[in-house]
Amino acid sequence: MTFKDIKESIFFYLSVPKCVGCGERLLRRENVLCEVCLEEYKNVKKRNCSICTRSLDRCTCPNKYLDTHYVHKLIKVYRYFPDDALPSNKLIYSLKRDNRKDVLDMLVEEMYCAISASVKNPSEYLFTNVPRSRKSVVKYGIDHAALLSKSLAKRFSAEYYQPLISKSKQQQKKTSGEERLKNASFDIKRGAKDLSGKKVILIDDVVTTGASLAASAMQLKALGAKQIIGAAIAIAYKDRYVPFAKGDRFLPYKK
Ligand SMILES: [Zn+2]
Ligand SMILES: [Zn+2]
Repeated sequence: MTFKDIKESIFFYLSVPKCVGCGERLLRRENVLCEVCLEEYKNVKKRNCSICTRSLDRCTCPNKYLDTHYVHKLIKVYRYFPDDALPSNKLIYSLKRDNRKDVLDMLVEEMYCAISASVKNPSEYLFTNVPRSRKSVVKYGIDHAALLSKSLAKRFSAEYYQPLISKSKQQQKKTSGEERLKNASFDIKRGAKDLSGKKVILIDDVVTTGASLAASAMQLKALGAKQIIGAAIAIAYKDRYVPFAKGDRFLPYKK
């Protein structure tokens, strides 16, 4: 062992990186998830879209709500199962709360791959994100969607710009889709620049109904954006576009 190795192992020991999935201390060769949780994560990622039959991280199908509200393409990495303690869900909780660089880096990498697979020349797009509510930024100290979007812009050598600001007063959890579009409204920042002719990639963490994404997209359109592609880590909606249940690997959608 060299001095550098010793220094690194001491640092590793002191920083106590724990598996985001199960909380066990990680081995040095492991990153973010332990081997067991990584397998579970890969398992979740195997689920396909029933429309295009691709794996979700290669699919751009929107749900019906988004398709009729400005966002015709939605990139995602995997499916989020509400109320489940899966490592894939915990990655998102951790991103929201822990401000862990290794978690951010992993999810940036996953989204980088998904976006690269579906978008031609991502560097030509403007990256932005659904703004977090002020309440949530105060509570957790970070706007994790902004962190994601900024890191992705950097990876693609693209521009990051946030022209929107959240003005939602209510927590959005218990409202229906249409109510959400009204409540989850975002203001355009004073002096925001014109986005005429711009193609935009709009980042969010989890798409539940699509209302926040659609409400942001509506304002970006008002600023002149030509095309808006949504990109989220996960989708939580279940509708006729992606109708598979937890146990299904592949279930063709019949029109
Ligand atoms: Zn684990
Ligand atoms: Zn699809």
